[in-house]
Amino acid sequence: MDYQRFFLDQLAALRREGRYRVFADLERQAGMFPRALRHVPREGQPDRVIEVTVWCSNDYLGMGQHPQVLAAMRAALDRHGAGAGGTRNISGTHHLLVELERELAQLHGKEVALLFTSGYVSNQAALGTLAARLPECVVLSDAMNHASMIHGIRDSRAEKHIFAHNDAADLERKLAAEPKGRAKIVAFESVYSMDGDIAPVGELAAAARRHGALTYLDEVHAVGMYGAHGGGVSERDGAAGQIDVIEGTLGKAFGVMGGYIAGTAALVDFVRSNAGGFIFTTSLPPAVAAGALAAVRVLKSDEGRAMRARHQERARTLMARLAEAGLPVMPSQSHIVPVLVGDAAQCKAISDRLLDAHHVYVQPINYPTVPRGAERLRFTPTPLHSDADMDHLIQALRSVWRDLKVGVAA
Ligand SMILES: *Cc1c(COP(=O)(O)O)cnc(C)c1O
Repeated sequence: MDYQRFFLDQLAALRREGRYRVFADLERQAGMFPRALRHVPREGQPDRVIEVTVWCSNDYLGMGQHPQVLAAMRAALDRHGAGAGGTRNISGTHHLLVELERELAQLHGKEVALLFTSGYVSNQAALGTLAARLPECVVLSDAMNHASMIHGIRDSRAEKHIFAHNDAADLERKLAAEPKGRAKIVAFESVYSMDGDIAPVGELAAAARRHGALTYLDEVHAVGMYGAHGGGVSERDGAAGQIDVIEGTLGKAFGVMGGYIAGTAALVDFVRSNAGGFIFTTSLPPAVAAGALAAVRVLKSDEGRAMRARHQERARTLMARLAEAGLPVMPSQSHIVPVLVGDAAQCKAISDRLLDAHHVYVQPINYPTVPRGAERLRFTPTPLHSDADMDHLIQALRSVWRDLKVGVAA
């Protein structure tokens, strides 16, 4: 077999569909967020470097440049060095990880928490382990669940049924069809990051409870951003007590990197003792844990509450301004502001043009992240995006819509 030919043909097919992924070459600038420097390579010359405004970062609150986070990371780096030195099993647990796990457990009102190297790994490992090891387990999975949960469920080889997105009645019907005593896990998210809609967490959890199911909630796009202390939608809705496993990331609103689950001591210890994706990999470096710990503490405080209020205001303002400008903004209940394009090639063309002509960076979102025909731009305004940034964005979008004749039948 001509392996290289095969790879190149597959890549060419992605390009033809407009689905080939091109990563912008960016340099984030601490203290300047949402501004960043974009590198454009030039034949035989140094890169051209252009300042751009980032409109699609998942560093939702700009914590990746917060002075307390940076100071904590610098201090930990100087004091403890760079890496973790191995898996926790082999090298022990750095004390900062112990502190961070305590902080996260407390944030969610759970007995204990367990860190992983990313949110993806935490879902794949924790959900995979629970579904694989609970005897004859069946998983009820929301239709819009993230790839990392799907990966875990698939690895577990447990039976899986998909319930209609955010539909507690459909979940209830599917749960009722299972034998009463059977092990069941209901897996879902709170904020869905492509449509920006929010699950009825309390209703889904109540349905699960009625049928004796465990609840597994991915709060990746909510931790730090919802609830009085940043405990997510489950905190905001007073539903955290009804959730067995709350899963989150340290890589989005907390601005650093890593993932975790929080739950009862027995459940979390069971995952710790059985999950390959936890046991056999080097743990987070101490400086990362220190940064995350600082970020969680800032976002628990009054400063965090003020940032959350401003964050929501920015999102509502941007939605109103897009609608006013006649742009096809999709309804969203959260901080995520999607604008529908509906065609992969056009979505990519709009994004390229925004970046090249207007220095606005927003990534096209294409299949398989969203269904075909639902391709979109996904804006994530932060507390650091000013009114002037919005003026510039709206003017850029209007100009690109006009130039590329978006939405005008050919
Ligand atoms: C980003 C994401 C993850 C993975 O989190 P990382 O920390 O980035 O690995 C998990 N679930 C959802 C819903 C996500 O969007």
